[in-house]
Amino acid sequence: MSELNPFKIAQAQLDAAADRLGLDIATHDLLRWPQQELRVTLPVQMDDGKVQIFHAYRVQYNTARGPAKGGIRWHPEETIDTIRALAAWMTWKTAVVDIPLGGGKGGVTCNPKWMSEAEKQRLARAYIRGVASTLGVSKDVPAPDVYTTPQIMGWMMDEYETLVGHHHPGVITGKPIPLGGSEGRGDSTARGGVYVTREAAKLLNLDLRGKTMAIQGFGNAGQYAALLGNEILGLKLIAASDSQGGIYNGKGLDSKQVVEYKLKTGSLQGFPGAEGISNEELLELDVTVLFPAALENVITAANADRIRCKISCELANGPTTPEADEILHQNKVFVLPDFLANAGGVTVSYFEQVQNTYNFYWPLQEVHERLDQKMTRAFHGVYQMYIQEKVNMRQAAYLVSVARVAEACKLRGWV
Ligand code: NAD
Repeated sequence: MSELNPFKIAQAQLDAAADRLGLDIATHDLLRWPQQELRVTLPVQMDDGKVQIFHAYRVQYNTARGPAKGGIRWHPEETIDTIRALAAWMTWKTAVVDIPLGGGKGGVTCNPKWMSEAEKQRLARAYIRGVASTLGVSKDVPAPDVYTTPQIMGWMMDEYETLVGHHHPGVITGKPIPLGGSEGRGDSTARGGVYVTREAAKLLNLDLRGKTMAIQGFGNAGQYAALLGNEILGLKLIAASDSQGGIYNGKGLDSKQVVEYKLKTGSLQGFPGAEGISNEELLELDVTVLFPAALENVITAANADRIRCKISCELANGPTTPEADEILHQNKVFVLPDFLANAGGVTVSYFEQVQNTYNFYWPLQEVHERLDQKMTRAFHGVYQMYIQEKVNMRQAAYLVSVARVAEACKLRGWV
């Protein structure tokens, strides 16, 4: 079986870019590894009075262009290698949208679905106590990721401020708005993906109005993709899925009603007027736009030949393996690679940090306009590289980002 370790995949992707850019050995080697890793063991009291031990991580991958930035994922299958890969991808992501930040990521191996709100709060606070020494606006700024929420960010900010003894809201982004969160952060990941899909469609001469979309993963990224894909691009949702399976109706599903149903019931199962579909079948639907918005390694050499969408807008991190990338490229599936397609989240997180620092907040319209400018510019930079170098879109994005990070490392005199 081919390699599915996300960090090995991230390294292989970098290797190809380093080769093509002709990076010297030291720079290439520096960029293959995280600069710093912290592993902590967290004892947390559960509601039944027993103490449970959680394993947690924070990785600062590269800080040449600015402080580390990246989410915190709570997932039962979380491993250090997943965090390393996600931290590497954050480094390329902040570089591709050209914001003055580096890349980092954190995680806790846990299953929040089985935890009460009080247990989650104790875990959030324990995590911050464990990693606080490596955090700060000029060091490393976390944000939400899979199964972490604005409320969890609020508890984490409060714990950090309690430890340092003063206000420091910029230490974490994706906070609730009353605690210094930014307008427009909630839907920013999907919105950024929708903006780059719009730009791609223009260049591919595709009119998206009335065309179809399917969404794998129906959390923060997936739900907003359903709403904004419809509102901004005029796409019709025909299938959506979550960890329990999916729903399908070839004539179209009402995005708003599906989101409301998921928020109310916690599941997509039983949505009226839809039939069941598996996560695997959903990916292979003949749709115009596919949004993989769940987890890594869902499009592999095993199914890539059956992917029939025109555009795959990767809101999830790492959904496509390198072998699958080649197959999609040959089959003329236009891939908007993860660290470009989902960079809207970190871009508005950066806006949030800026607003926190100035203690002055922008209206929603301004956030949308600034995000659109950043995403549109990033897309065209990558597209230009794709045309010029005749590589696939992911390789083009790597060439843009790795060159920027390598330049910063050199200018600092590290290599
Ligand atoms: P989330 O926790 O809000 O939602 C995750 C969704 O994925 C849930 O609906 C869950 O049921 C579903 N899911 C989990 N396992 C699945 C499986 N095996 N098959 C199908 N669905 C499954 O998380 P999110 O924030 O929406 O993140 C989703 C993806 O987007 C992740 O890869 C994350 O790293 C990436 N991402 C998120 C952000 C952000 O700002 N939230 C930013 C950039 C990238």
